[in-house]
Amino acid sequence: MPWPHDCIRPHELLANHTSFRIGGPAEWFAEPSTLEELVAVLRETHRVGMPVSVVGGGTNTLASDRGIRGLVMHLGRGFRTIRDVSHQDDPLAQVLCGAALLTQRLVYLATTHGWGELESLAGLPGQIGGAVAMNAQDIGQFIRRICLVSFDGTIREFTADQLTFRYRDAALEPGIVADVTLQFPKVPPAQAYERIRQVLQYRNSTQEVRLPSAGCAFKNPPGVGAGRLIDQAGLKGARIGDAQVSRRHANFIVNVGYATCDDVLSLMEHIQREVDRHFHIRLEPEVRMVGERIG
Ligand SMILES: Cc1cc2nc3c(=O)[nH]c(=O)nc-3n(C[C@H](O)[C@H](O)[C@H](O)COP(=O)(O)OP(=O)(O)OC[C@H]3O[C@@H](n4cnc5c(N)ncnc54)[C@H](O)[C@@H]3O)c2cc1C
Repeated sequence: MPWPHDCIRPHELLANHTSFRIGGPAEWFAEPSTLEELVAVLRETHRVGMPVSVVGGGTNTLASDRGIRGLVMHLGRGFRTIRDVSHQDDPLAQVLCGAALLTQRLVYLATTHGWGELESLAGLPGQIGGAVAMNAQDIGQFIRRICLVSFDGTIREFTADQLTFRYRDAALEPGIVADVTLQFPKVPPAQAYERIRQVLQYRNSTQEVRLPSAGCAFKNPPGVGAGRLIDQAGLKGARIGDAQVSRRHANFIVNVGYATCDDVLSLMEHIQREVDRHFHIRLEPEVRMVGERIG
């Protein structure tokens, strides 16, 4: 299909866009740099009935080995913006972030500008758009407004009172988050820095950060950690192909070599069966899949 948009290319390997380092080629891959370009591409995919998937930082994504049919949207550099839109006398800081901004860039700027409570996001990989879609680390509590482009190309604005954030879910209408306004208390920069430093130190000593993964594979069931259940079921170190349950953090599945999507899914199914057998609890995946499974 001929595209009138320079930002689209065929056969882009998703393994290069996911922290798992897994994933076949996207049939089409778009990296729009402006809102106008994003809207134009979505109008075209909508017109021809092409499916659209969204990948941000790819740190919570498991992509199919077979590849992804249709178009994968990955917001480009023009969406990595950040602007302080606070009023001088207001005790709250307001920050307008493009959805492709790295979450850790926001956290770093909090230490120099004195934006408080951002320690909850310290060390969280990926982009702001992905964090919002996942309500990662309860980022929803800071959100004042969202600009979302529906899959037909319509630009829509949502204020905080129109949004519902749940555990690891933002219940957004289908579409692509383009930018977000976040609000934080203003604090002395040294205080912001110290809190963030402490969280980063704790994370680095407890989480699996050396091997490719997509963070926690499963959501925590009410009142109990999924990692604890997986550990108590004796699954630390369990392996299928090159996918392995981390020995450091049992809710992390790591790619120890050339793991395929199928290796990861088979290991996840094994974990679900074993945890169910031991504790009668059905673990629900936190990792989100794009594309279809082989077989
Ligand atoms: C080492 C490691 C540690 C982690 N620790 C944590 C943690 O402590 N807490 C936690 O909550 N998560 C954690 N994660 C998971 C992940 O980092 C977060 O969920 C992150 O916020 C996802 O952002 P992303 O841009 O990578 O999203 P992606 O993986 O790209 O996408 C995730 C979902 O959001 C959608 N999406 C992405 N961008 C947009 C957009 N612009 N508009 C609409 N939808 C979009 C995708 O379609 C997909 O459904 C960790 C992951 C790793 C690898």
